[in-house]
Amino acid sequence: MTQSANKVVIFLGPPGAGKGTQAERLAREEGLIKISTGDILRDHVSRGTELGQQVRPILDAGALVPDAILIALIRDYLAGMESVRVIFDGFPRTRAQAEALDLLLEELGAPVTAVPLLEVPDELLIERIVERGRQAALRGEAARSDDTEEVARRRQEVYRKQTQPLIDYYGARGHLRPVDGVGTMDEVYGRIVAALG
Ligand code: ADP
Repeated sequence: MTQSANKVVIFLGPPGAGKGTQAERLAREEGLIKISTGDILRDHVSRGTELGQQVRPILDAGALVPDAILIALIRDYLAGMESVRVIFDGFPRTRAQAEALDLLLEELGAPVTAVPLLEVPDELLIERIVERGRQAALRGEAARSDDTEEVARRRQEVYRKQTQPLIDYYGARGHLRPVDGVGTMDEVYGRIVAALG
């Protein structure tokens, strides 16, 4: 496969599963662009843009930003890409987003390549998120305002209701690659690379 060939990887998994970290490494090593909708939205919040002001209370509550906003954002991101070599982290999160993404990718002639699913038991997830908040504070950085136990539980609930159905969506299309997300960062990364073949 040449460097310019299209490649579309979608990371699925609950909040705290480690999608962001693993997606970042895969992007670096495979020459892909990581598109993290959480990072994009947080950037708007910190810059105080109109969008940022609109979505801030939604992020703080651990709820989902409306589909139309996310779909427009992703459309803009993909427009003008010469070859589509991307990793999605945190998108799609609903069936409507997944269907919209399929249409966009069809227009671009860049179908989904694979969907790694990071599997981590529920009881470990909240622990990881709360620890992430604690570590940020120890480094003297501002913790994510949604990395509190209460909001993390809400995010998990939202994941179960709105995002988990995508496991069947991509499973039915033969794209799903379940990966055990428990272990060191290197171990999990190795499993992801193996699962992507
Ligand atoms: P996590 O996976 O740890 O919950 P993210 O950084 O992916 O964190 O997302 C943080 C927040 O940003 C979500 O709780 C939600 O409010 C918003 N968000 C991110 N991506 C989407 C999306 N695709 N659709 C709706 N809301 C989103």
